[in-house]
Amino acid sequence: MSRVTLGGVELPRPLIVAPPAHEARPEPADVPAALAPVVDVLSGSTVAALTGAGVSTDSGVPDYRSPGSPPRRPITHQEFLATEAHRRHYWARNHLGWRFLRDVAPNAGHEALARMEHEGIVNGVVTQNIDLLHLKAGSRNVVHLHGRYDRVVCRDCGNVISREHLDETLTRLNPGWRERHVADVEVAPDADAALESTADFRIADCPRCGGILMPDVVFFGGTAPRERVERARAIVDEADALLVAGSSLAVMSGLRFVRQAAKAGKPVVIITRGLTRGDELATVKVEMSTTTALTYLADVL
Ligand SMILES: [Zn+2]
Repeated sequence: MSRVTLGGVELPRPLIVAPPAHEARPEPADVPAALAPVVDVLSGSTVAALTGAGVSTDSGVPDYRSPGSPPRRPITHQEFLATEAHRRHYWARNHLGWRFLRDVAPNAGHEALARMEHEGIVNGVVTQNIDLLHLKAGSRNVVHLHGRYDRVVCRDCGNVISREHLDETLTRLNPGWRERHVADVEVAPDADAALESTADFRIADCPRCGGILMPDVVFFGGTAPRERVERARAIVDEADALLVAGSSLAVMSGLRFVRQAAKAGKPVVIITRGLTRGDELATVKVEMSTTTALTYLADVL
């Protein structure tokens, strides 16, 4: 992690560099054979699912860490709160990018997890994604560990407003802005779009108290609320096994559930492209598309 000085405040700046594309393993030609050890481990079990960005790439939501992803330097929690210039920059980019998440559709992997929940195989989904695609696919017991793109919370009074509602305000404050800048959009997993000149963007304060509005999203350097973590722990606790899909477990917020399951003697299955920080705790690790794998597992489990 590098550091950058901003307005006299020194801040950590994570630079996320994914492995090069050529390090990605080819998809297994024989899917049943590749997943046979997974079926052995999970068969007859109640399974908690932990999902990351990899499950949404086939819906067109880009991923930070799978092989071949471009390097990214996401805004941190500390930067967002440090200066209005950072908040302006964030909201200007979010103003362009958030509708992409609103309009994106779940893929067969999300649908397979929802089907397994309805059949009583999956007891719940803990997701690091903010895109709500598990809910759109029909999953019911979902913990959004890192929050959700569609809500905005006041840092000062806790007032919650919808992102749709904030959109009306930001559009009114910045007439024609989206139309002038829409060509600059580069969609990213945090609904954050790449754009340089945002100094003229007008942001909105809390309509109730005038406080700082923040998306209901856990930024780098932020922490998931305790109540949310406890609900996620309970899902893992109530299951016989943990299935990690599409996460490199690079952040502790996800890795701790792998540790929880492993410590309780529960099998851990990881299906993700590339290395993960949980590999040494995995009972079975398979590098392949989660869309393919989850669809197959929903058929055979
Ligand atoms: Zn407020």
